[in-house]
Amino acid sequence: MKMPAQHSPMLLVHGGAWAIPADAAQDHQNGVRKALEAGYEVLGRGGPALEAVVAAVTVMEDNPTFDAGRGSFLTSDGRVQLDALIMDGGRMKAGGVACVERLRNPIQAARLVLEESPHVYFVGDGAEAFAAAHGMELIENEELVLPRERERLKAAQARAAAGMADETFSGLQDDKEPETAVRAADDGPMARDEGLEEQEMSNGEQGIENHGRKTRSVEDPTGWSHDTVGAVALDAWGNLAAGTSTGGTLNKTPGRVGDSSLIGCGCYADNLSAAVSLTGWGEPIMKLVLGKWATDRVATGTAPEIAAREAISYLYNRLGGHGGIILLGPDGRFGFAHNTPAMAWGLATWAGMHTGLQEGNRE
Ligand code: ASP
Repeated sequence: MKMPAQHSPMLLVHGGAWAIPADAAQDHQNGVRKALEAGYEVLGRGGPALEAVVAAVTVMEDNPTFDAGRGSFLTSDGRVQLDALIMDGGRMKAGGVACVERLRNPIQAARLVLEESPHVYFVGDGAEAFAAAHGMELIENEELVLPRERERLKAAQARAAAGMADETFSGLQDDKEPETAVRAADDGPMARDEGLEEQEMSNGEQGIENHGRKTRSVEDPTGWSHDTVGAVALDAWGNLAAGTSTGGTLNKTPGRVGDSSLIGCGCYADNLSAAVSLTGWGEPIMKLVLGKWATDRVATGTAPEIAAREAISYLYNRLGGHGGIILLGPDGRFGFAHNTPAMAWGLATWAGMHTGLQEGNRE
């Protein structure tokens, strides 16, 4: 017997966390709104959370505003290499792809992996061959590459050649090697880097209120447009799903995989805990398995609103990392947080849609 629908459907999306320059703000806002419309259309007619996540993420992959699908950041050799994961929290099924270069919509390939394969994760040529064998078109990598991104890569490589640090992720205080952000044994297990202490002291009380939020000007091009996409959904049947899709990081070495497509790192969903999607500096997020960390807290009673902020605090306090999170519990309570200057976000419920570019500001 089919159980009656009992839950009020919800969809939460993000379009990446970093600085968003003024002239890209409207595109980000419009982009997340279109994703909400596509995803909530599915939920509104009683469709599954998984399908809503695919619909929302597909729309953002197709939008060159974001670092997913066409328009993604380029690898150091000038190619687009994409990673995506999707997870169904009701059936506890997951599908992931990484380092794919010939797929327009890696989230759809991830969904095929989830549904059609006994395996959970495919990479590179194998992932493309699997997708093609299940009906997806293989395209030329060139189709995914924008002139804007060639320019951005050239600028990043010129900065590197001039000996300037890659600040795409690091920025003000933290080191590109996250372990250096927290001194180990010598100074005690949780001894902190002086730079971090200084920033926190100048920010006032250390805690989940500031979690190392950056204040760098959006005029600084090194901080622009860091735009992985993600969605978490709760359907009318009480099932949760999550998806994350990314072009990864600017000037990454070919073959590098970040947090986004790794289970429990940049994405996770379980009806018994929560659904989560993250964005930001992938390496620290991976080391903390931060998605699972956050959903586990919801499972043990922390409200998603608090757990989201605690996760970003933990990311910063433990490894000096920066990023953003959306988190949705099985009862419809949700949270989002970021310690980057901005994170494009959107929320759709039966009562309407909201979007914003920062925690606490909405349209
Ligand atoms: N987390 C992604 C990665 O490290 C990047 C991002 O979220 O923008 O690949």
